[in-house]
Amino acid sequence: MNSIIDRITRIAQEYPDKICYHNGNVQATYQQLDQQSDKVASFIQAKNLPQKSPIFVFGGQQFEMLALFLGAIKAGHAYIPVDDGSDPQRIQQINMVAKPSLVLNWSDKSNFGIDTTICEQDQLKEVLSADHKDYDKTRSVGPDDNFYIIFTSGTTGTPKGVQISTNNLLDFVDWVDKTYHYNSDTKVMLQAPFSFDLSVFSIYPGLTNGATLEVLDKHTAKNLPLLQQAILNLQATTWISTPSFFEMCMFFREFNAETLPQLNKFIFCGEELTHVTAEKLLKRFPNAELFNTYGPTENTVAITSIQITPQNLPQFDRLPIGYLKSNMEHHLANVEEKDGERVGELVVSGPDVSKGYLNNPVQTDKAFETINGKKFYHTGDMVSEDDNGLLFYKGRTDFQIKMHGYRIELEEVDSLLTNLVEVKQSCTVPLYNSKKQVNKIIAHVVLDDKYKHLEPKELNKQIKAELKQNTMDYMIPNVFKFVDQLPISKNGKIDRKALIGEVNA
Ligand code: AMP
Repeated sequence: MNSIIDRITRIAQEYPDKICYHNGNVQATYQQLDQQSDKVASFIQAKNLPQKSPIFVFGGQQFEMLALFLGAIKAGHAYIPVDDGSDPQRIQQINMVAKPSLVLNWSDKSNFGIDTTICEQDQLKEVLSADHKDYDKTRSVGPDDNFYIIFTSGTTGTPKGVQISTNNLLDFVDWVDKTYHYNSDTKVMLQAPFSFDLSVFSIYPGLTNGATLEVLDKHTAKNLPLLQQAILNLQATTWISTPSFFEMCMFFREFNAETLPQLNKFIFCGEELTHVTAEKLLKRFPNAELFNTYGPTENTVAITSIQITPQNLPQFDRLPIGYLKSNMEHHLANVEEKDGERVGELVVSGPDVSKGYLNNPVQTDKAFETINGKKFYHTGDMVSEDDNGLLFYKGRTDFQIKMHGYRIELEEVDSLLTNLVEVKQSCTVPLYNSKKQVNKIIAHVVLDDKYKHLEPKELNKQIKAELKQNTMDYMIPNVFKFVDQLPISKNGKIDRKALIGEVNA
């Protein structure tokens, strides 16, 4: 039997009535998850699909999606989670790259414009409500076989399918167990869409420990009154999200330890956690543990972690991303000296590194490199490292620009801006001229409420003057645009690429 499935099955046998999924009025038990995924597995196996061919699973964040994922694994097929908010072009591109043998469609959408066999929701409902059927456990997904394939959310080019094996996932689950101690009393928030691997931070460490997944779905997250209700009634003990999603929830004044005394752990991943956000969190939840974690999908969710405390927070203007998992190797590539620090691209190797992109040897060769028989992944993230191995994120290699000969890290400019009292959030982007050279840098700034009444001209002067005190002139944005909010991608991260497109349209 697949080892992840084995752990979940044992929980289902020991605690059949334990709730594994809770979303508003909907809840489901471990026994239901186990039995429903058995039925899905037997249904899939009866189709005699090509061995190990991936299965496309389309839908939202419903309980049945989890039964479909586990059913695919039990049957012997990796699943590709695709969010039902995806546009037809993305669905067609993923289909073309992955060549799945089947689509399980848990949505009311149809007509995907693809020629792969589709099982529609009605048919799947029949499968789930039929009598229990067993499946052939010897055919389940093996240790080195793909468990899931998540397609990157790049806004340009063809999406790349990151292949994550059972062993990759097991390594991640074991690390989460050791680092965050999930157990059967844990109620872990599940907010990220299933097509974003941040959701894996909740799903598999949660299900293999008998925890309850407290789901905050996108329908709720998009509707402010619903979100407020969900946040203030949240039963989760562990919060997992991007910092941007947390910032959005900070809008509700009652979102604090008094309202939610059981919420005692916050784990962030997916984008930079700013000093300001961490400070605000520790004020609202003074007894909570706060962790900053970092990782690309290609390394199975997260590979570094550090607890940010009231004691260590004042030491850092820009927060560290943490220490690398102890079973990983790393080095920095293309190192340059910057402000007395060595900064280079983080290159990592270890049991959680993906085997590469599905059916895409060209992109795989670009990002993965074998050194002395070990596979290394080039993260595209610049970092520095202190003497104890603590890593500091310095920006994406692709968000580094040159203007008038100076190299500027856009994320560093944002970090400087968010350290100012006036600025709540910031996203700086380049404006290109007709020769494709950067002409100006434009900061999109969300103001702190206390400063919203000020005139833009006055603010402009004030912010520039403050930046001047500890920033090189060339790094000061030429233009400040004061906006109510920043665009957020489907994965809940600040969408810098969308703003670059908008500014240069
Ligand atoms: P994804 O593969 O979509 O999960 O995105 C991974 C990328 O998000 C990383 O390569 C980083 O650029 C960024 N990222 C993830 N976590 C952090 C973090 N804690 N701080 C800064 N950037 C992060």
